Amino acid sequence: MKIDVLVIGGGSAGMSAGIKAYESGASVLIVERENKLGGILKQCIHNGFGLKYFKKEMTGPEYAHALEEKVNKLDIKVLTGTMVTGLSKKADGSFAVSVISKNGAYIINAKAIVLAMGCRERPSAAISLCGERPVGVLTAGCAQKIINIDGQMIGKKVVIIGSGDVGLIMARRLHYEGAKVEGVYEISSTPSGLNRNIVQCLNDYNIPLHLSETAVEIIGKDRVEGVVVAKVNPDFTFNMKTKRLIKCDTVLLSVGLVPENDLVSDLIKLNNTTGGAVVDDYYTTNIEGIFSCGNVLHVHDIVDDVTIEAEQAGLFAGQFALGNLNKGVKFNTISGNGVRYLVPNFVHAGSGFVSLKFRVTKTFKNPKIVATCGNEIIGERSAKILLPAQMEQIMIDRSKLKGDVKVEVYEG
Ligand SMILES: Cc1cc2nc3c(=O)[nH]c(=O)nc-3n(C[C@H](O)[C@H](O)[C@H](O)COP(=O)(O)OP(=O)(O)OC[C@H]3O[C@@H](n4cnc5c(N)ncnc54)[C@H](O)[C@@H]3O)c2cc1C
Repeated sequence: MKIDVLVIGGGSAGMSAGIKAYESGASVLIVERENKLGGILKQCIHNGFGLKYFKKEMTGPEYAHALEEKVNKLDIKVLTGTMVTGLSKKADGSFAVSVISKNGAYIINAKAIVLAMGCRERPSAAISLCGERPVGVLTAGCAQKIINIDGQMIGKKVVIIGSGDVGLIMARRLHYEGAKVEGVYEISSTPSGLNRNIVQCLNDYNIPLHLSETAVEIIGKDRVEGVVVAKVNPDFTFNMKTKRLIKCDTVLLSVGLVPENDLVSDLIKLNNTTGGAVVDDYYTTNIEGIFSCGNVLHVHDIVDDVTIEAEQAGLFAGQFALGNLNKGVKFNTISGNGVRYLVPNFVHAGSGFVSLKFRVTKTFKNPKIVATCGNEIIGERSAKILLPAQMEQIMIDRSKLKGDVKVEVYEG
Protein backbone atom coordinates (compact mmCIF):
# COMPACT_ATOMS: atom_id res chain seq x y z
CA MET A 1 0.00 0.00 0.00
CA LYS A 2 1.21 3.56 -0.81
CA ILE A 3 -0.05 6.77 0.81
CA ASP A 4 1.01 10.44 0.95
CA VAL A 5 0.63 10.95 4.73
CA LEU A 6 0.54 8.13 7.28
CA VAL A 7 -0.58 9.19 10.78
CA ILE A 8 0.47 6.95 13.69
CA GLY A 9 -2.20 7.11 16.41
CA GLY A 10 -5.91 7.88 16.17
CA GLY A 11 -6.45 10.11 19.23
CA SER A 12 -7.40 13.77 18.98
CA ALA A 13 -3.94 14.63 17.59
CA GLY A 14 -3.97 11.88 14.96
CA MET A 15 -7.52 12.61 13.76
CA SER A 16 -6.96 16.39 13.64
CA ALA A 17 -3.66 16.00 11.77
CA GLY A 18 -5.28 13.52 9.37
CA ILE A 19 -8.17 15.90 8.59
CA LYS A 20 -5.90 18.85 7.78
CA ALA A 21 -3.44 16.73 5.77
CA TYR A 22 -6.39 15.50 3.70
CA GLU A 23 -7.72 19.03 3.24
CA SER A 24 -4.30 20.07 1.92
CA GLY A 25 -4.84 17.63 -0.96
CA ALA A 26 -2.86 14.62 0.30
CA SER A 27 -4.10 11.04 0.59
CA VAL A 28 -4.16 10.06 4.28
CA LEU A 29 -4.10 6.88 6.34
CA ILE A 30 -4.58 6.84 10.14
CA VAL A 31 -3.22 3.73 11.88
CA GLU A 32 -4.57 3.07 15.40
CA ARG A 33 -3.62 0.09 17.57
CA GLU A 34 -6.91 0.06 19.50
CA ASN A 35 -10.18 -1.08 17.96
CA LYS A 36 -11.68 2.40 18.01
CA LEU A 37 -10.46 5.92 17.27
CA GLY A 38 -10.42 8.50 20.09
CA GLY A 39 -7.32 7.71 22.18
CA ILE A 40 -7.39 8.69 25.84
CA LEU A 41 -10.58 10.75 25.33
CA LYS A 42 -12.64 7.53 25.20
CA GLN A 43 -12.17 6.99 28.95
CA CYS A 44 -12.52 10.66 30.05
CA ILE A 45 -16.28 10.65 30.68
CA HIS A 46 -16.19 13.89 32.69
CA ASN A 47 -17.01 17.19 31.02
CA GLY A 48 -14.71 20.21 30.58
CA PHE A 49 -13.51 19.43 27.05
CA GLY A 50 -13.89 21.51 23.91
CA LEU A 51 -14.57 25.03 25.25
CA LYS A 52 -11.75 26.60 23.22
CA TYR A 53 -12.07 24.61 19.96
CA PHE A 54 -15.73 23.56 19.66
CA LYS A 55 -16.95 26.54 21.80
CA LYS A 56 -19.06 24.25 23.95
CA GLU A 57 -18.55 21.99 26.94
CA MET A 58 -18.23 18.33 26.01
CA THR A 59 -17.19 15.03 27.57
CA GLY A 60 -14.11 13.24 26.24
CA PRO A 61 -16.13 10.67 24.21
CA GLU A 62 -18.29 13.47 22.71
CA TYR A 63 -15.12 15.33 21.67
CA ALA A 64 -13.65 12.19 20.12
CA HIS A 65 -16.94 11.47 18.33
CA ALA A 66 -17.03 14.99 16.82
CA LEU A 67 -13.54 14.48 15.34
CA GLU A 68 -14.34 10.93 14.21
CA GLU A 69 -17.44 12.17 12.35
CA LYS A 70 -15.22 14.64 10.44
CA VAL A 71 -12.75 11.85 9.59
CA ASN A 72 -15.59 9.63 8.34
CA LYS A 73 -17.02 12.35 6.10
CA LEU A 74 -13.69 12.64 4.25
CA ASP A 75 -11.99 9.97 2.17
CA ILE A 76 -9.44 9.30 4.93
CA LYS A 77 -8.41 5.68 5.26
CA VAL A 78 -8.40 4.27 8.80
CA LEU A 79 -6.85 1.04 10.06
CA THR A 80 -7.88 0.25 13.63
CA GLY A 81 -6.63 -2.78 15.56
CA THR A 82 -3.34 -2.18 13.77
CA MET A 83 -0.09 -1.33 15.52
CA VAL A 84 2.88 0.39 13.93
CA THR A 85 5.95 -1.63 14.94
CA GLY A 86 8.71 0.01 12.90
CA LEU A 87 9.60 2.99 10.78
CA SER A 88 12.54 3.56 8.44
CA LYS A 89 13.56 6.08 5.82
CA LYS A 90 14.15 4.71 2.32
CA ALA A 91 16.82 5.81 -0.18
CA ASP A 92 14.25 7.82 -2.18
CA GLY A 93 13.33 9.89 0.94
CA SER A 94 9.98 8.16 1.56
CA PHE A 95 9.21 5.91 4.55
CA ALA A 96 8.58 2.20 5.08
CA VAL A 97 6.15 1.65 7.95
CA SER A 98 5.86 -1.86 9.45
CA VAL A 99 2.46 -2.69 10.90
CA ILE A 100 0.88 -5.70 12.53
CA SER A 101 -2.82 -6.56 12.80
CA LYS A 102 -4.97 -9.68 12.95
CA ASN A 103 -4.44 -9.90 9.17
CA GLY A 104 -0.67 -10.29 9.69
CA ALA A 105 2.41 -8.12 9.43
CA TYR A 106 3.05 -5.97 6.37
CA ILE A 107 4.68 -2.74 5.18
CA ILE A 108 3.02 0.50 4.08
CA ASN A 109 4.94 3.13 2.11
CA ALA A 110 4.36 6.82 2.86
CA LYS A 111 5.82 10.14 1.72
CA ALA A 112 5.30 11.79 5.13
CA ILE A 113 4.67 10.54 8.67
CA VAL A 114 2.82 12.24 11.52
CA LEU A 115 3.71 10.90 14.97
CA ALA A 116 0.59 11.16 17.18
CA MET A 117 1.11 8.27 19.64
CA GLY A 118 0.13 10.22 22.79
CA CYS A 119 1.79 9.60 26.16
CA ARG A 120 1.86 6.94 28.87
CA GLU A 121 1.86 7.10 32.67
CA ARG A 122 4.98 6.75 34.79
CA PRO A 123 4.71 3.46 36.75
CA SER A 124 5.64 2.74 40.40
CA ALA A 125 9.19 1.77 39.34
CA ALA A 126 9.71 5.38 38.26
CA ILE A 127 9.35 6.57 41.88
CA SER A 128 11.24 3.66 43.54
CA LEU A 129 8.47 2.60 45.95
CA CYS A 130 9.54 0.01 48.54
CA GLY A 131 7.43 -2.96 49.60
CA GLU A 132 5.94 -6.13 48.13
CA ARG A 133 3.98 -6.06 44.88
CA PRO A 134 0.43 -6.57 46.16
CA VAL A 135 -2.76 -6.27 44.14
CA GLY A 136 -4.24 -2.78 44.36
CA VAL A 137 -1.45 -0.53 43.05
CA LEU A 138 -2.56 1.04 39.78
CA THR A 139 -1.77 4.09 37.70
CA ALA A 140 -4.62 6.61 37.71
CA GLY A 141 -5.29 6.29 33.98
CA CYS A 142 -5.45 2.50 34.26
CA ALA A 143 -7.98 2.86 37.10
CA GLN A 144 -9.95 5.30 34.95
CA LYS A 145 -10.16 2.76 32.13
CA ILE A 146 -11.22 -0.06 34.48
CA ILE A 147 -14.00 2.04 36.03
CA ASN A 148 -15.23 4.06 33.03
CA ILE A 149 -14.86 1.52 30.23
CA ASP A 150 -14.87 -1.92 31.87
CA GLY A 151 -17.45 -0.91 34.51
CA GLN A 152 -15.53 -2.46 37.45
CA MET A 153 -14.74 -0.84 40.80
CA ILE A 154 -11.11 -0.96 41.96
CA GLY A 155 -11.29 -0.56 45.77
CA LYS A 156 -12.99 1.02 48.77
CA LYS A 157 -10.29 3.03 50.56
CA VAL A 158 -7.88 4.80 48.26
CA VAL A 159 -4.67 6.82 48.62
CA ILE A 160 -3.48 8.80 45.61
CA ILE A 161 0.23 9.43 45.16
CA GLY A 162 1.01 12.47 43.01
CA SER A 163 -1.24 15.38 42.12
CA GLY A 164 -1.26 15.08 38.32
CA ASP A 165 -4.54 15.91 36.59
CA VAL A 166 -5.45 12.26 35.98
CA GLY A 167 -5.13 11.50 39.71
CA LEU A 168 -7.20 14.55 40.67
CA ILE A 169 -9.95 13.59 38.25
CA MET A 170 -9.89 10.03 39.59
CA ALA A 171 -10.19 11.29 43.19
CA ARG A 172 -13.57 12.82 42.29
CA ARG A 173 -14.59 9.80 40.19
CA LEU A 174 -13.83 7.38 43.06
CA HIS A 175 -15.75 9.61 45.46
CA TYR A 176 -18.79 9.47 43.13
CA GLU A 177 -18.52 5.67 43.04
CA GLY A 178 -18.64 5.45 46.85
CA ALA A 179 -14.96 4.93 47.66
CA LYS A 180 -13.29 6.83 50.50
CA VAL A 181 -10.37 8.81 49.12
CA GLU A 182 -8.03 9.22 52.11
CA GLY A 183 -5.94 11.93 50.47
CA VAL A 184 -3.64 12.98 47.68
CA TYR A 185 0.09 13.08 48.56
CA GLU A 186 2.36 15.30 46.45
CA ILE A 187 6.17 15.19 46.76
CA SER A 188 6.56 18.84 45.64
CA SER A 189 5.51 21.95 47.51
CA THR A 190 3.15 22.90 44.64
CA PRO A 191 0.51 20.72 42.94
CA SER A 192 1.39 19.30 39.53
CA GLY A 193 -2.21 19.39 38.26
CA LEU A 194 -4.27 22.36 37.11
CA ASN A 195 -5.74 24.65 39.77
CA ARG A 196 -9.26 24.13 38.41
CA ASN A 197 -8.89 20.38 39.04
CA ILE A 198 -7.67 20.99 42.63
CA VAL A 199 -10.81 23.05 43.27
CA GLN A 200 -13.36 20.97 41.35
CA CYS A 201 -12.02 17.49 42.13
CA LEU A 202 -10.57 17.81 45.68
CA ASN A 203 -11.78 20.93 47.51
CA ASP A 204 -15.42 20.48 46.46
CA TYR A 205 -15.42 17.00 48.04
CA ASN A 206 -13.19 17.72 51.08
CA ILE A 207 -10.47 15.41 49.79
CA PRO A 208 -7.21 16.55 51.45
CA LEU A 209 -4.15 17.46 49.41
CA HIS A 210 -0.88 16.94 51.34
CA LEU A 211 1.95 18.89 49.74
CA SER A 212 5.63 18.01 50.40
CA GLU A 213 4.58 14.54 51.57
CA THR A 214 4.83 11.24 49.72
CA ALA A 215 4.68 7.44 49.95
CA VAL A 216 7.84 5.69 51.11
CA GLU A 217 6.49 2.13 51.41
CA ILE A 218 3.52 0.08 50.29
CA ILE A 219 2.25 -2.34 52.99
CA GLY A 220 0.53 -5.63 52.13
CA LYS A 221 1.51 -8.95 50.57
CA ASP A 222 -1.45 -10.20 48.53
CA ARG A 223 -3.63 -7.06 48.62
CA VAL A 224 -2.61 -3.51 49.61
CA GLU A 225 -3.22 -2.93 53.34
CA GLY A 226 -1.77 0.55 53.66
CA VAL A 227 0.84 3.00 52.59
CA VAL A 228 3.55 4.64 54.70
CA VAL A 229 3.92 8.34 53.95
CA ALA A 230 6.56 10.83 55.11
CA LYS A 231 7.18 14.56 54.81
CA VAL A 232 9.63 15.65 52.14
CA ASN A 233 12.43 18.14 52.85
CA PRO A 234 13.05 21.06 50.44
CA ASP A 235 16.03 19.11 49.00
CA PHE A 236 13.62 16.20 48.24
CA THR A 237 15.06 13.87 50.92
CA PHE A 238 12.48 12.14 53.12
CA ASN A 239 12.05 13.09 56.78
CA MET A 240 11.66 9.55 58.16
CA LYS A 241 10.81 10.87 61.66
CA THR A 242 7.44 11.97 60.22
CA LYS A 243 6.56 8.48 58.88
CA ARG A 244 2.90 7.46 59.37
CA LEU A 245 0.73 4.62 58.11
CA ILE A 246 -2.43 5.35 56.11
CA LYS A 247 -4.67 2.28 55.95
CA CYS A 248 -6.12 1.65 52.50
CA ASP A 249 -6.81 -1.16 50.04
CA THR A 250 -5.83 0.71 46.86
CA VAL A 251 -3.02 3.05 45.82
CA LEU A 252 -3.28 5.13 42.66
CA LEU A 253 -0.20 6.66 41.09
CA SER A 254 -0.43 9.97 39.28
CA VAL A 255 3.25 10.77 39.04
CA GLY A 256 3.69 12.06 35.53
CA LEU A 257 3.15 11.33 31.88
CA VAL A 258 5.84 10.45 29.35
CA PRO A 259 5.53 10.91 25.57
CA GLU A 260 5.22 7.47 23.93
CA ASN A 261 8.26 7.70 21.64
CA ASP A 262 9.80 4.20 21.99
CA LEU A 263 8.89 3.45 18.38
CA VAL A 264 11.12 6.23 17.07
CA SER A 265 13.66 6.83 19.84
CA ASP A 266 16.47 5.34 17.69
CA LEU A 267 15.40 7.35 14.66
CA ILE A 268 14.61 10.90 15.77
CA LYS A 269 16.23 13.35 18.18
CA LEU A 270 14.36 13.71 21.48
CA ASN A 271 14.27 16.67 23.87
CA ASN A 272 15.61 15.67 27.32
CA THR A 273 13.14 17.92 29.17
CA THR A 274 9.89 17.13 27.37
CA GLY A 275 10.66 13.56 26.24
CA GLY A 276 9.15 14.54 22.90
CA ALA A 277 10.81 15.15 19.55
CA VAL A 278 13.00 18.15 18.83
CA VAL A 279 10.91 20.00 16.23
CA ASP A 280 10.81 23.20 14.22
CA ASP A 281 7.84 25.54 13.78
CA TYR A 282 6.47 23.25 11.04
CA TYR A 283 6.45 20.39 13.61
CA THR A 284 9.15 18.65 11.56
CA THR A 285 11.53 16.47 13.56
CA ASN A 286 15.25 16.27 12.74
CA ILE A 287 14.21 13.89 9.94
CA GLU A 288 12.54 15.80 7.08
CA GLY A 289 9.14 14.22 6.40
CA ILE A 290 8.53 13.05 10.00
CA PHE A 291 6.22 15.38 11.93
CA SER A 292 5.18 15.18 15.60
CA CYS A 293 2.20 16.65 17.50
CA GLY A 294 -0.04 16.25 20.54
CA ASN A 295 1.02 14.48 23.71
CA VAL A 296 3.76 12.53 21.96
CA LEU A 297 5.47 15.87 21.29
CA HIS A 298 4.96 17.37 24.76
CA VAL A 299 2.32 16.67 27.40
CA HIS A 300 -0.56 19.14 27.01
CA ASP A 301 -3.07 20.25 29.65
CA ILE A 302 -6.13 20.53 27.46
CA VAL A 303 -7.18 18.66 24.36
CA ASP A 304 -8.11 21.84 22.42
CA ASP A 305 -4.43 22.82 22.33
CA VAL A 306 -3.61 19.31 21.07
CA THR A 307 -6.17 19.66 18.28
CA ILE A 308 -4.96 23.11 17.18
CA GLU A 309 -1.30 22.02 17.17
CA ALA A 310 -2.08 18.78 15.32
CA GLU A 311 -4.08 20.59 12.64
CA GLN A 312 -0.98 22.63 11.82
CA ALA A 313 1.30 19.58 11.85
CA GLY A 314 -1.13 17.74 9.55
CA LEU A 315 -1.33 20.66 7.13
CA PHE A 316 2.47 20.89 6.92
CA ALA A 317 2.79 17.10 6.51
CA GLY A 318 0.32 17.25 3.61
CA GLN A 319 2.21 20.12 2.01
CA PHE A 320 5.51 18.26 2.44
CA ALA A 321 4.14 15.08 0.84
CA LEU A 322 2.92 17.11 -2.16
CA GLY A 323 6.24 19.01 -2.43
CA ASN A 324 4.70 22.33 -1.35
CA LEU A 325 6.42 23.00 2.00
CA ASN A 326 8.96 25.81 1.69
CA LYS A 327 10.81 27.13 4.72
CA GLY A 328 12.83 30.32 5.27
CA VAL A 329 16.06 30.79 7.24
CA LYS A 330 16.17 28.70 10.46
CA PHE A 331 16.90 30.03 13.97
CA ASN A 332 17.04 28.49 17.46
CA THR A 333 14.57 29.15 20.26
CA ILE A 334 16.26 29.65 23.64
CA SER A 335 14.70 29.09 27.08
CA GLY A 336 15.70 32.13 29.15
CA ASN A 337 14.96 33.21 32.72
CA GLY A 338 12.06 31.25 34.27
CA VAL A 339 11.37 29.08 31.20
CA ARG A 340 11.75 25.30 31.65
CA TYR A 341 11.38 24.37 27.96
CA LEU A 342 10.16 25.73 24.65
CA VAL A 343 8.34 23.96 21.81
CA PRO A 344 9.32 24.32 18.97
CA ASN A 345 13.10 24.26 19.22
CA PHE A 346 13.60 26.04 15.87
CA VAL A 347 11.71 28.76 14.02
CA HIS A 348 11.95 29.96 10.43
CA ALA A 349 11.80 33.50 9.08
CA GLY A 350 8.80 34.12 6.86
CA SER A 351 5.27 35.46 7.21
CA GLY A 352 2.57 34.93 9.85
CA PHE A 353 2.78 34.18 13.55
CA VAL A 354 4.20 31.21 15.45
CA SER A 355 3.04 30.07 18.88
CA LEU A 356 5.90 29.16 21.23
CA LYS A 357 4.66 26.85 24.00
CA PHE A 358 6.44 26.62 27.33
CA ARG A 359 6.21 25.87 31.04
CA VAL A 360 7.75 28.02 33.77
CA THR A 361 10.29 26.86 36.36
CA LYS A 362 8.40 28.32 39.36
CA THR A 363 5.30 30.31 40.24
CA PHE A 364 5.36 33.92 38.93
CA LYS A 365 2.90 36.58 40.17
CA ASN A 366 1.94 39.40 37.73
CA PRO A 367 4.74 38.36 35.36
CA LYS A 368 5.75 39.69 31.98
CA ILE A 369 6.67 37.21 29.23
CA VAL A 370 9.05 38.63 26.65
CA ALA A 371 10.37 37.12 23.41
CA THR A 372 13.44 38.88 22.02
CA CYS A 373 15.48 38.55 18.85
CA GLY A 374 18.77 40.35 19.45
CA ASN A 375 17.74 43.63 21.08
CA GLU A 376 14.28 43.69 19.49
CA ILE A 377 11.16 42.57 21.34
CA ILE A 378 9.16 40.37 18.92
CA GLY A 379 6.50 39.11 21.34
CA GLU A 380 5.30 40.28 24.73
CA ARG A 381 2.43 39.70 27.11
CA SER A 382 1.58 39.87 30.80
CA ALA A 383 -0.35 37.47 33.03
CA LYS A 384 -1.87 37.44 36.52
CA ILE A 385 -0.04 34.28 37.53
CA LEU A 386 2.07 31.60 35.84
CA LEU A 387 2.24 28.15 37.42
CA PRO A 388 4.72 25.36 36.62
CA ALA A 389 1.75 23.00 36.14
CA GLN A 390 0.25 25.08 33.35
CA MET A 391 1.27 25.14 29.69
CA GLU A 392 1.69 28.71 28.39
CA GLN A 393 2.09 30.22 24.91
CA ILE A 394 3.51 33.37 23.39
CA MET A 395 3.02 34.42 19.76
CA ILE A 396 5.95 35.73 17.74
CA ASP A 397 5.97 37.42 14.35
CA ARG A 398 7.96 35.39 11.77
CA SER A 399 8.58 38.49 9.64
CA LYS A 400 10.66 40.01 12.48
CA LEU A 401 13.02 37.02 12.79
CA LYS A 402 16.64 37.92 12.11
CA GLY A 403 18.33 35.60 14.63
CA ASP A 404 17.73 33.25 17.57
CA VAL A 405 14.69 33.93 19.76
CA LYS A 406 14.91 34.00 23.56
CA VAL A 407 11.83 33.76 25.79
CA GLU A 408 12.10 35.05 29.36
CA VAL A 409 9.71 35.55 32.27
CA TYR A 410 10.05 38.36 34.84
CA GLU A 411 8.06 38.97 38.02
CA GLY A 412 5.98 42.17 37.69
C1 LIG B 1 -7.46 11.53 32.74
C2 LIG B 1 -7.34 12.65 31.78
C3 LIG B 1 -8.17 13.74 31.95
C4 LIG B 1 -8.12 14.79 31.07
N1 LIG B 1 -8.98 15.85 31.26
C5 LIG B 1 -9.03 16.84 30.34
C6 LIG B 1 -10.03 17.88 30.46
O1 LIG B 1 -10.82 17.92 31.41
N2 LIG B 1 -10.08 18.81 29.48
C7 LIG B 1 -9.21 18.78 28.41
O2 LIG B 1 -9.31 19.64 27.52
N3 LIG B 1 -8.24 17.81 28.30
C8 LIG B 1 -8.13 16.84 29.23
N4 LIG B 1 -7.17 15.83 29.10
C9 LIG B 1 -6.13 15.91 28.06
C10 LIG B 1 -6.51 15.42 26.68
O3 LIG B 1 -7.49 14.43 26.76
C11 LIG B 1 -5.27 14.87 25.98
O4 LIG B 1 -4.24 15.84 26.03
C12 LIG B 1 -5.49 14.52 24.48
O5 LIG B 1 -6.67 13.80 24.30
C13 LIG B 1 -4.28 13.75 23.96
O6 LIG B 1 -4.45 13.42 22.59
P1 LIG B 1 -3.33 12.64 21.75
O7 LIG B 1 -3.98 12.31 20.44
O8 LIG B 1 -2.07 13.38 21.74
O9 LIG B 1 -3.04 11.30 22.56
P2 LIG B 1 -3.96 10.03 22.85
O10 LIG B 1 -5.37 10.40 23.06
O11 LIG B 1 -3.27 9.29 23.94
O12 LIG B 1 -3.89 9.20 21.48
C14 LIG B 1 -2.74 8.47 21.07
C15 LIG B 1 -3.20 7.26 20.28
O13 LIG B 1 -2.09 6.65 19.64
C16 LIG B 1 -2.27 5.25 19.66
N5 LIG B 1 -0.95 4.63 19.46
C17 LIG B 1 0.14 4.75 20.26
N6 LIG B 1 1.17 4.04 19.73
C18 LIG B 1 0.71 3.45 18.60
C19 LIG B 1 1.31 2.60 17.61
N7 LIG B 1 2.60 2.20 17.72
N8 LIG B 1 0.55 2.18 16.58
C20 LIG B 1 -0.74 2.57 16.46
N9 LIG B 1 -1.36 3.39 17.36
C21 LIG B 1 -0.63 3.82 18.41
C22 LIG B 1 -2.89 5.01 21.03
O14 LIG B 1 -3.56 3.76 21.08
C23 LIG B 1 -3.84 6.19 21.16
O15 LIG B 1 -5.14 5.90 20.69
C24 LIG B 1 -7.20 14.76 29.98
C25 LIG B 1 -6.34 13.66 29.81
C26 LIG B 1 -6.42 12.62 30.71
C27 LIG B 1 -5.48 11.45 30.53
